[in-house]
Amino acid sequence: MKPSSPITQDVLTVPRRLPDGPTNLVGLTRDALAQALAAVGTPERQLRMRVAQIWQWIYQKGVRDFDAMTNLAKDYRRLLAENFVIEVPEVVSRHVSADGTRKYLVRIAGGHEVETVYIPEEDRGTLCISSQVGCTLTCSFCHTGTQKLVRNLTAGEIVGQIMLARDDLDDWPRPGEGMGERPRLVSNIVLMGMGEPLYNFENVRDAMKIAMDGEGISLSRRRITLSTSGVVPMIARTAEEIGCMLAVSFHATTDEVRDRLVPINRKWNIATLLEALRAYPRLSNSERITFEYVMLKDVNDTDEDARRLIQLIRGIPAKINLIPFNEWPGAPYQRSDWDRIERFADIIYKAGYAAPIRTPRGEDIMAACGQLKSATERARRSKAEVMREAGLD
Ligand code: SAH
Ligand code: SF4
Repeated sequence: MKPSSPITQDVLTVPRRLPDGPTNLVGLTRDALAQALAAVGTPERQLRMRVAQIWQWIYQKGVRDFDAMTNLAKDYRRLLAENFVIEVPEVVSRHVSADGTRKYLVRIAGGHEVETVYIPEEDRGTLCISSQVGCTLTCSFCHTGTQKLVRNLTAGEIVGQIMLARDDLDDWPRPGEGMGERPRLVSNIVLMGMGEPLYNFENVRDAMKIAMDGEGISLSRRRITLSTSGVVPMIARTAEEIGCMLAVSFHATTDEVRDRLVPINRKWNIATLLEALRAYPRLSNSERITFEYVMLKDVNDTDEDARRLIQLIRGIPAKINLIPFNEWPGAPYQRSDWDRIERFADIIYKAGYAAPIRTPRGEDIMAACGQLKSATERARRSKAEVMREAGLD
């Protein structure tokens, strides 16, 4: 960990329109799509309907070819094909864990890579998506935090991760099949992959609006959870402009420990964070906030911590998600012992809060929470390590 490293966010999002290429329609808001259609000559009075039709093809049926949009006139389809593309990021590799978890290494414009993880469970399928390449926030227990941030993802690259997973899982309605006839494999979204979503607010918002829209991906806002390390000034905006479920990477019960684990705490401390969280359920009309708490041996896992946690969150409708630390090569922490985690959970549960212990998934393919880091970055780092060990640097 670098205690004095500044918390910055001066990163660039590449423009949606590459200099000479056609505009990608994936990720455009309704307004932006209407503007794009108007610019190629779509009559004003048709815009609303065209946007709805095109969204349905793209996000409900998974169509990538304008020619398949059979409720549009042939000439109009040709006009669209001449000016636009429907593109999602490319899957470079896919790893399937023994427990069925799938990890996709996804290449985005500029050759950067992010990871997307699909976690099948009995009653749901959760897709964990990334919002940035790497992360500027150097949380000391997080593998992504050791990767230098390269850039923010565009809205198209964020919503594109949902689409590419649905491609791979065959999760689009088949011809003749109505929406909702088959249970959806990607039924839940968590913004818990690489990056801090609230440091890429506009793009995350635009992508989630498409995910929640009845003519878009059509997932209920209750099935979308955004996890933040605690970017306090953006929490009220998340409630007002997205309105999804909120999770917060809490991880400690004193500022002294949280400063070390989640360095953004030095900017917005526990008291400031709690104040913003207290207002969230009312502003977003959602039931409760998820407090994520990574269990680190001898760091934040005492009975006293559990009791302090209950005191701190008193009055906030909450669920506490205990995450056994997922180890990664060179990590400076260890996972708390299992009986310690259970004892911690028990104290919280007895105080009247749900305290599920998150089962680590996809550990064998390095797909668990906090282990995500692009393969190229990993390779680069291990090469540097090899050099150092060999005394060559
Ligand atoms: N940047 C956001 C979302 C991505 S991290 C955030 O920090 O909330 C998703 C969750 O995984 C966070 O709660 C994060 O603190 C946790 N996490 C990170 N590294 C981990 C690790 N090695 N083991 C377990 N959980 C980890
Ligand atoms: Fe970034 Fe979240 Fe990892 Fe912290 S835990 S470094 S905010 S991805």
